[in-house]
Amino acid sequence: MRILVTGGAGFIGSHLIDRLMHAGHDVICVDNFFTGHKRNIQHWFGNPNFELIRHDITEPIKLEVDQIYHLACPASPVHYQYNPVKTIKTNVMGTLYMLGLAKRIKARILLASTSEVYGDPEVHPQSEDYRGNVNPIGIRSCYDEGKRVAETLAFDYHRQNGVDIRVARIFNTYGPRMLENDGRVVSNFVGQALKDIPLTVYGDGSQTRSFCYVSDLVEGLMRLMNGDFIGPVNLGNPDEYTILELAQTIQSMVNPDADVKFEALPQDDPKRRKPDITRAKTYLDWEPSIPLETGLQKTIDDFKTRLQAEKRLSLETTLS
Ligand code: NAD
Ligand code: UDP
Repeated sequence: MRILVTGGAGFIGSHLIDRLMHAGHDVICVDNFFTGHKRNIQHWFGNPNFELIRHDITEPIKLEVDQIYHLACPASPVHYQYNPVKTIKTNVMGTLYMLGLAKRIKARILLASTSEVYGDPEVHPQSEDYRGNVNPIGIRSCYDEGKRVAETLAFDYHRQNGVDIRVARIFNTYGPRMLENDGRVVSNFVGQALKDIPLTVYGDGSQTRSFCYVSDLVEGLMRLMNGDFIGPVNLGNPDEYTILELAQTIQSMVNPDADVKFEALPQDDPKRRKPDITRAKTYLDWEPSIPLETGLQKTIDDFKTRLQAEKRLSLETTLS
């Protein structure tokens, strides 16, 4: 099949592209490199089954493909709050154009939505029929309301125009290739522990998240795309940890001497989050298999390799 991945140079998108390429598909990656990097996909450059298009999805694009994985959107609060209006445009205009494309070429389209549609949830764990507790005017709204509109657009294109949609609500995902300056909690803690600087726990660290390793997530996305269930479906790992527990785990794995320092909790930071994955189990026969420590070790190894390469480069630059 010919498959378009928007946001394919990013963290999840690049892992998805690896799976699709290994399965023998023709893959087109569309990305504006806001948070994505060529280095994430450069191992496919020169392969005749791979094409890279630098394009901003807030502008329309015409392509011929069988499937669209629509992932383009910054995912870390630091990045999506950098230019909130652009984040909304990416979620609304970008998704509108992708759904319009899917309609015209009769492609199946999978929207990468998010657990953020549940906001600061009053229901725990979160199942897909929970409608959420979202602040429409807060600093996270450009992302969570943006994704809620993206879901609305997907379902309206489906009802009105028969577009073949799939909607995934992705929960916190981590793994190799996360940016060191990504701002999300796993990448922050791993980077800090490796650099021997204090781990920054926001608030008192009692808020919870449930962390899914990227290969599990990608498997879930592919099952959703290739099955009959349109969703929305939660994709995440139901193992729930407080942020302080996560800090202590990473501390013990990387650097038991690293300090923890407490900083202010950002506005509207959800207090707890854990997916109910009954739907994913029932309709996709999917559940995550990688335990936190196993996934963290792979992430730590990847960060170590990149930090060492950076050090070598800066040493070479100083010497030359
Ligand atoms: P990421 O920031 O690594 O990847 C996003 C990619 O989209 C980047 O390559 C970026 O350059 C590209 N992009 C952003 N705006 C664009 C635009 N206007 N035009 C073209 N490309 C654009 O993030 P990620 O973690 O890989 O997330 C991928 C998708 O999954 C996002 O839609 C995100 O909302 C969703 N998601 C991720 C998580 C998570 O924990 N990682 C959780 C929930 C949902
Ligand atoms: N967090 C933290 N220290 C950091 C980065 C994040 O304590 O250096 C907290 C953040 O306040 C939130 C949780 O970790 O409660 C997850 O944050 P992240 O940005 O990774 O994802 P999201 O809030 O979107 O789930």
